[in-house]
Amino acid sequence: MSTILSSKTEIKTISKDAQAMLRRAREEGIETVWDRLAAQEPQCGYCAMGLSCRNCAMGPCRVDPFGEGPQKGVCGANADTIVARNLGRSIAAGASAHSDHGRDILEVFEQTARGTTTGYHITDEAKLKALAKEYDVSVDSRPVADVARDLADAMLEDFGTRKGRLGFLGRVPPKRAELWKKLGVTPRGIDRENVEMLHRTHMGVDNDYVNILLHGLRTSLSDGWGGSMIATELSDVMFGTPKPIMSQVNLGVLKADHVNIALHGHNPLLSDVIVQAASDPELVKLAKKKGAAGINLVGLCCTGNELLMRKGVPMAGNHLIQELVIMTGALEAMVVDYQCIMPSVTDVAKCFHTQVISTADKAKFPGATHMSFDPHRGLEIAKDIVRKAVEAFSNRVPDRVRIPVEPVPMMAGFSVESILAALGGTPEPLVNAIKEGKIRGAVGVVGCNNPKIPQDEGHVTLTRRLIENDILVLVTGCAAVANGKAGQMVPEAAEMAGPGLKGVAKALGIPPVLHLGSCVDNTRILVLAAALANYLGVDIDQLPLAGAAPEWYSEKAVAIGTYVVASGIYTVLGVQPPIFGSKNVVNLLADGLEGVVGAKFAVEPDPEKAAILIRRHIEAKRKALGLPAIEPEKIQLEEPAAARA
Ligand code: SF4
Ligand code: SF4
Repeated sequence: MSTILSSKTEIKTISKDAQAMLRRAREEGIETVWDRLAAQEPQCGYCAMGLSCRNCAMGPCRVDPFGEGPQKGVCGANADTIVARNLGRSIAAGASAHSDHGRDILEVFEQTARGTTTGYHITDEAKLKALAKEYDVSVDSRPVADVARDLADAMLEDFGTRKGRLGFLGRVPPKRAELWKKLGVTPRGIDRENVEMLHRTHMGVDNDYVNILLHGLRTSLSDGWGGSMIATELSDVMFGTPKPIMSQVNLGVLKADHVNIALHGHNPLLSDVIVQAASDPELVKLAKKKGAAGINLVGLCCTGNELLMRKGVPMAGNHLIQELVIMTGALEAMVVDYQCIMPSVTDVAKCFHTQVISTADKAKFPGATHMSFDPHRGLEIAKDIVRKAVEAFSNRVPDRVRIPVEPVPMMAGFSVESILAALGGTPEPLVNAIKEGKIRGAVGVVGCNNPKIPQDEGHVTLTRRLIENDILVLVTGCAAVANGKAGQMVPEAAEMAGPGLKGVAKALGIPPVLHLGSCVDNTRILVLAAALANYLGVDIDQLPLAGAAPEWYSEKAVAIGTYVVASGIYTVLGVQPPIFGSKNVVNLLADGLEGVVGAKFAVEPDPEKAAILIRRHIEAKRKALGLPAIEPEKIQLEEPAAARA
């Protein structure tokens, strides 16, 4: 492999473990995501602005942003139409990814209810019954399996429903539900909205950028309040509703004397049974026979977050660590399901003894060993996978093992249920803390890593500035892992917070940054926001809340950001989306939407400035609610810097 990595590896990531592995990559000539980004530069300006279209064979077409070249594609589509269509398709791709994940969970849930799976159970019966009531499924004196089967049927209806209404819309505050109805964006069915977006963006269908983007809101809402919400809720029913739990994070969670298996991707179905298989006495005995002290499971990306939240499985890292974890030379197997898995992992694995094992028939990787997942033989397949990893231990080269850091402790497991339980069963203490100004507001910091931004810097800096200013931060996905690595997710991190938040966090024994789970679990933030709004009898957009995706890369993040804004929450992006080729689209998303759904997007790559934007927004919302507020214009960039000095 060629070595094209620049010598300035340290600026590519703020994480010490990643820096150490990047040095190894440079020494050994192993190519990484940062090399490939450099090789792509300069990236296509038309695509970066959303001005290229290849939706039909009359194209591909480009619109000249400087007004000198073509202003229309061959079919006559202008910049507004092309940018809106491209954005609409991204929303649909992201929403489809989440919702197909939700469908996979639902199908295994249904098969479990019918007793045809192995290794799966109904773990949280109370949650099952609560969900059944929401879906009008009779619970009284009925066997759990019957209730689960009827609930599964009702939820399966949400995907292709003819009812015209998703089951979870009862959770939406009435004012918001009314607004969506008035705008015509109430999601009717999960599959329907995604298919309709693909239809609308076909050549010669919807050419009105406003109309396309309104359907973009609807499509995203079918994910947030539909497919993703089903994924979260049924994962809780089957694998347990998370409760606060301590674990560890970074590459130091690998153990030099153990068989190490990384579980990577998004779906907890297989990884949950692998956790069961890894403690199988026969497999542990085999590992010992091979000379290992035991079997060590670690997580990556959101499969890792699912296991961390419910089982305390330690986290090796987030998105940009996936190639680097193999370079420790201590990983016997990387077991992947789907989403966010770089095809390059099999190339890096060729330089070491690591087995890459793919498991989802819809996500195959050239160079990997495919072991097809089948829930009817879930535990059996999980044992086969663990056995393969144990056997790979014999191929490990001890001199090649480099585990660069000690692990950092982190707390996870904050479901809405566990947050409310910590508050005594009602949102009242949180509402009171917000009213008194001890907590100024709450922000969801979510999303990915993107090699265009030094890994974790956006997440960690933004979160730190928010908690310093008494803003509670809720994290999911790779943002959560970044904050964990930075030591901001232990109860002791309360010391980093402003005096109000510090007092609340210390009284409850929790960190000022709460881990709510994987990317699909952003729905927990929606549920919490809706619960607060319903408690106060207001709409979500009136609350002092915001969202941020400082390092996003994925189409799923586009869908998430859109449903968060459509739900009434102002959202700041740290990476520029490909929309700047249309002033009209930019004006709509960054301004006009405010008058439509009460929230809008902002783009701010500098996390220090993003923190200012968010603080101003939160104080403006406080003022509008009649709560003690700082005048937004008094919040300047210099202020927190001076305070820190
Ligand atoms: S849909 Fe129109 S703009 Fe797009 S490729 Fe076809 S002709 Fe070109
Ligand atoms: S946060 Fe982004 S990169 Fe990380 S697992 Fe989720 S979608 Fe993938």
